[in-house]
Amino acid sequence: MQEGRINLYSDTQTRPSPAMLEAMVEAKVGDEQHGLDPTVDALCERVAELLGKEAALFLPSGTMCNEIAILVHCRPGDEIYAHHSAHIITSEAGGPSALAGATICPLPGDRGIYSADALRAHLRLESRYTPTPRLVEIEQTANFGGGAVWTLAQINAVAAVAQERNLRMHMDGARLLNAVVAAGVSAREFAAPFDSAWLDLSKGLGCPIGGVLAGSRAFIDEAWRWKQRIGGALRQAGFLAAAGLYALDHNIARLADDHDNARRFGAIVAQCPGVSLEPAQVETNIVFINVAQAGVAATELRDRLEARGINVGAMGPTRLRAVTHMDVNRAQAEEAAHAFVEIVNELRTIH
Ligand SMILES: *Cc1c(COP(=O)(O)O)cnc(C)c1O
Repeated sequence: MQEGRINLYSDTQTRPSPAMLEAMVEAKVGDEQHGLDPTVDALCERVAELLGKEAALFLPSGTMCNEIAILVHCRPGDEIYAHHSAHIITSEAGGPSALAGATICPLPGDRGIYSADALRAHLRLESRYTPTPRLVEIEQTANFGGGAVWTLAQINAVAAVAQERNLRMHMDGARLLNAVVAAGVSAREFAAPFDSAWLDLSKGLGCPIGGVLAGSRAFIDEAWRWKQRIGGALRQAGFLAAAGLYALDHNIARLADDHDNARRFGAIVAQCPGVSLEPAQVETNIVFINVAQAGVAATELRDRLEARGINVGAMGPTRLRAVTHMDVNRAQAEEAAHAFVEIVNELRTIH
């Protein structure tokens, strides 16, 4: 996006800072595919430690982290249990079925979070007719749940059901560190019940590219085979891993600012008659805005904002999403919110 815009479309829109770029340029590198890149190794060790796992794998994207984890855990005919709004269902081009041959049972629940009871109620009683229950997946934070944070109690309750039924557990931790900062719970604690977990470097952490998938040594060995097989093995990737190490050193605590700015943005837009937030309370850096009662089309509002240099996402006929990140400061979040309200009021008078 061009300079001067306020880009709330996603926290993927960050540009590497000058200090991050400097760290990248100075990275020691080698052939990552051959295990010869010291910076990639350092990043993997760092994330494995952060998540309390034996080993980790550097991948080009979070989507590849999810898909490779699913490929390791599942065989064709297996079933995954996930919230109906999960990224693996809505946003990965049907990857779990196309690649792993797995079906996904979509679970109900508010804010992208399902209960242990909902999981239990949907778990199939195995027979020759049913897909084989294999994997339980959660998203921390729940993206399309409005950035909601799973509590440890909610996770542990779901994990207990998974354990009863001998199911594996996978955490899509695209924004795990947002949850860590919001809840004051360590990444290690959140990740403890999971066989595999990953975090995205290219969201709120501000890196240009990358995700890191962690699990047991045996899990990562298998994941490496998939990485190789689908062409995800890299060469001098240490330049990219250096951005990740920089981000883990400098960009975690500041996620609290993004959360404050999201709350501020939400508080201003929610004052506008006919506009409501989903959920009403902004928990992290994602704000879902419902404009159904204002009688305004989400795409029209998005386009009008775009013309004023502000980007948000239209997520349905009457839903929009705004995501705060390190390239949007407090004043810009407020400016965007006021513009949002003004345009809603204009459109309302026209219709
Ligand atoms: C962004 C996102 C992903 C995918 O990550 P990419 O790095 O964009 O491939 C997966 N899950 C969730 C919840 C996300 O928000």
